Amino acid sequence: MFDTRQAVAWIEASARLVRDDADRLTELDTAIGDGDHGRNLTRGFAAATEKIGDAATPRTVLTAAGSALVSSVGGASGPLYGTFLRRTAKALPDEPSVGGAELAEALAAGVAGVRELGGAADGDKTMVDALDPAVTALRDAIGDGADLPAAVARAAKAAEEGARATIPLVARKGRASYLGERSAGHEDPGAASSVLLFAALAEAAGAPS
Ligand code: ADP
Ligand code: MG
Repeated sequence: MFDTRQAVAWIEASARLVRDDADRLTELDTAIGDGDHGRNLTRGFAAATEKIGDAATPRTVLTAAGSALVSSVGGASGPLYGTFLRRTAKALPDEPSVGGAELAEALAAGVAGVRELGGAADGDKTMVDALDPAVTALRDAIGDGADLPAAVARAAKAAEEGARATIPLVARKGRASYLGERSAGHEDPGAASSVLLFAALAEAAGAPS
């Protein structure tokens, strides 16, 4: 089960991990973008943590966090992660505790929202290349009968592998696509931050490390 306290813990851990890794995210974005990704997400998740205190269900936590990201981040990642969280929320029942399979399906709806908003396909060298394998691994693990902590640990590992696999790719979406072939050889900053979001979810879900 995934409850309100864990949803709050997810957003708080995301804020902490993003802040701790802000310099690395910014370095990645300096190589193939405009060098603001660490700052964007630090601001966005700090705003999100301030908006979730009164939320009574995972659905309301993630809606409030997503809205804060959309309204506080100027870069592409704010609306994209905001949509990820809001669409995930919308697919959840408004109850204080939801099942692992419900969470996995909701996160898949969140990734579908990112695809719709940004138009990125697999292999376009974006956050989708980490988010999609993570959610697929989560659904598969739940389908295999894993409990939520173990399933989320597998998802976090899949996000890492997905992000690493963006290194040789040529970007076809976002600012990095302006570089064409020169975007190859660098990890996508949004894929790197998606790894942090799934590491935070693993922490919140009590996954074995
Ligand atoms: P900006 O590109 O506006 O400066 P950020 O630097 O905060 O915004 O975020 C950049 C990241 O956003 C990219 O590394 C990529 O993962 C993601 N991104 C950008 N455009 C898209 C898109 N159309 N679809 C999916 N993800 C995208
Ligand atoms: Mg940027």
